[in-house]
Amino acid sequence: MQTVTHWINGAYVAPEADARYSDVMNPATGAVTSQVVLASAATTAEAIAAAQAAFPAWRDTSLSRRVAVMFNFRELLNARKSELAAIITAEHGKVLDDALGEVARGQEVVEFACGIQHFMKGGYTENASTKVDVHSIRQAIGVTAIISPFNFPAMVPMWFYPVAIATGNTVVIKPSEKNPTALNWMAELWKEAGLPDGVFNVVHGDKEAVDTLLTHPDVKSVSFVGSTPIAEYVYKTGTSHGKRVQALGGAKNHMLVLPDADLDLAADAAVNAGFGAAGERCMAISALVAVESIADELVAKIAERTRTLRVGDGTRGCDMGPLVTAVHRDKVASYIDAGEAAGATMVLDGRNATPDADGEGFFLNPTLFDHVGTDMSIYTDEIFGPVLSVVRVESYDEGIELINNSPYGNGTAIFTNDGGAARRFENEIQVGMVGINVPIPVPMAYYSFGGWKNSLFGDTHAHGAEGVHFFTRGKVVTSRWLDPSHGGINLGFPQNA
Ligand code: NAD
Repeated sequence: MQTVTHWINGAYVAPEADARYSDVMNPATGAVTSQVVLASAATTAEAIAAAQAAFPAWRDTSLSRRVAVMFNFRELLNARKSELAAIITAEHGKVLDDALGEVARGQEVVEFACGIQHFMKGGYTENASTKVDVHSIRQAIGVTAIISPFNFPAMVPMWFYPVAIATGNTVVIKPSEKNPTALNWMAELWKEAGLPDGVFNVVHGDKEAVDTLLTHPDVKSVSFVGSTPIAEYVYKTGTSHGKRVQALGGAKNHMLVLPDADLDLAADAAVNAGFGAAGERCMAISALVAVESIADELVAKIAERTRTLRVGDGTRGCDMGPLVTAVHRDKVASYIDAGEAAGATMVLDGRNATPDADGEGFFLNPTLFDHVGTDMSIYTDEIFGPVLSVVRVESYDEGIELINNSPYGNGTAIFTNDGGAARRFENEIQVGMVGINVPIPVPMAYYSFGGWKNSLFGDTHAHGAEGVHFFTRGKVVTSRWLDPSHGGINLGFPQNA
């Protein structure tokens, strides 16, 4: 049995004698494949100390040298991404193509960070006052913590660390204990790319490690992604300990289909966005809002397509893999029980899966509910599984009101051929990421990723210009070079002249 241990100061560290462990499973087979060490507060502090020690030299490393390391990392990642995808599939369960897509979207942030010089340029004003010049600079903040969820073991950490590192910070990452190996693989890649030891550290663990990161005085910022209750806890604890925090939470994403939409396109999109990665995406569509006049036809088209999906081991060319754990699979199944008991129309029941897989994997088939009421738990809760709920409305206005009443505001999409309706939607909808005939509108790396309401605590989204802002702080310098004509005593408040 392999042990997955921490990566601190450029090397793996041996577990403490009394270390706690957690099983890492292959969700497609149900087999325990390794054991991950859960860091104590002392081990987490060791990683923070390594990052703190590496900070001054890395901050003062020239921009060109830092960017050269980013380019090296990008080249290595691009050449070896299939290795990383295989690790993701083995510990998360998502199918290999999807895992490769996850790596590609993370790589885009690395590529963005390869051009970080453009974002590190400050402003300059000559002669702001007579013979007085002003310029602004942005500087790294220090040790940055990243805490990530199980559903994107590679991409979510990559929303943050390329920008944090390129701007001159050092990082301590605490990945999900359910699939820890991807981060260790990336740590080794950084070493090969020439990143100095101590700039990139990985501690594996649970609440004990997280709480240490949230309260340690040397940690200057926290980037968290996970469920809403933990995001709120992380935000409150981190900010009350003086850190800047961006905490991205859960979601319930709606897709509104208007009567003039291309229903084949909408049905394809609903299936892809509802059941891709077994619904374990923060941008998954879990509520389909159909205007009544086209609802029967649309549901029939979705059901017809969903029946063709092959469920099984992600290494076997299937469309949809397993859920991440048996506990999570059972929880999702209990939501299907609840939806049925509440009187929603069960179009497709995924509870008796017949996967193409060996062993006792954590499978469900896709489930489709119609006539879902907004008081049912399958509508109100984030299920995070392959369960798509169709809610019927009479009009565009009713649809938009429904979406805006959701406590979440991560992603949403409208399907229509009416430009005016689409334009109104993008103006009126209270959601951070909006798709128009695009079901999963994940922003490009040079824009910023983040939701509204209970989907984000804090005000800064991930990567893009907002990411750079989060990982740097501004300084404004007002300078006057000696000139004999400017002397004399003046106790008044500085005024421009
Ligand atoms: P989670 O909240 O259970 O765990 C996230 C991280 O927090 C993990 O590293 C975990 O070890 C840690 N953690 C768990 N419980 C903790 C506690 N009590 N105290 C301190 N730390 C704790 O989330 P998950 O199940 O790994 O991921 C799924 C969730 O993440 C979903 O809700 C999904 O919507 C959300 N998510 C959101 C986004 C987004 O961009 N908004 C992206 C991906 C996932």
